Amino acid sequence: MRVKVLGSAAGGGFPQWNCACPNCSGLRNGSIKARPRTQTQIAIAADPGYALREYWTLVNASPDLRSQIVASPELAPFPNTRSSSAILDVYLQSADADSLMGLLHLREFQAFKIFSMPAIRRILSEENSIFQVLGRANPPVQWFSLPFASYQNRDRPHNPQAVPQFISHAVSLGGEFPDYISRKLRSTLPAEEAIVALVFEFAGKRVFVAPTLPGRNTDWQRWAESSDVVLIDGTFWTDDELFRAGRSQKTARQIGHLPISGPSGLLEQYPKHAKGRKVLIHINNTNPILNEDSPEHRAVLDAGFEIAYDGMEFSL
Ligand SMILES: [Zn+2]
Repeated sequence: MRVKVLGSAAGGGFPQWNCACPNCSGLRNGSIKARPRTQTQIAIAADPGYALREYWTLVNASPDLRSQIVASPELAPFPNTRSSSAILDVYLQSADADSLMGLLHLREFQAFKIFSMPAIRRILSEENSIFQVLGRANPPVQWFSLPFASYQNRDRPHNPQAVPQFISHAVSLGGEFPDYISRKLRSTLPAEEAIVALVFEFAGKRVFVAPTLPGRNTDWQRWAESSDVVLIDGTFWTDDELFRAGRSQKTARQIGHLPISGPSGLLEQYPKHAKGRKVLIHINNTNPILNEDSPEHRAVLDAGFEIAYDGMEFSL
């Protein structure tokens, strides 16, 4: 598998257009050591080089998707075609605006598949009619339901000799549906479909993707422990980060993100015997780990984590 990080920031990107926090200001005026980042977008190719045409799976569809595609030669149309796309399908993990706005960038009469929980499809089809532009393609964009992962999946040992097959499933993370959804529709949606982590497996290797980790259950831990690459929620350093930056009255946990530091934070909860690479992604512009000279940046590296950046790549 080949995994590319096309974007690594949380909603708003880094710097955020209307934010004057020390990070965003420091990046603008060059007074801190940090990289700009676009909004989180991941692309995965199951078996690069196997076929004449290399196809890619997008994990979510970020508000920056158009520029991220244009900047990625792998995602260009195939040579000698009038119109085509290397993007085979899109997996949606929630109905958060930042994880699906990019679908509107894919509206140019292109057929592809979307995998999501049934609730996410209902939110887009029953209340947000602008997404019907995807139905203009011929054949139209097709939707498929994601299966939930079972304990059997989790405990099955990796088998490099198995017939290579791209396997994906979802792990419910708890959390809530976004507040733009009407109360009426929300009351009919199953809570376990609100936010899911995704597991992708190919040829005995496993990637675990959870850019939003509400921390409402611990089911994610065994998956993180058994994966070769883990891309996980690095949105906030502290629970009160947005409050202190004057950007929100709510805590990180209240808006569905387990903070990295502090009691029962990600660093404390992360399984101690995990062997794979652990990579923080979906980093908010207020997060001090973005400043490469900060003690917080050093602390996550010392804890064995990597910090995702745009263009980061993994082969496994
Ligand atoms: Zn900022």
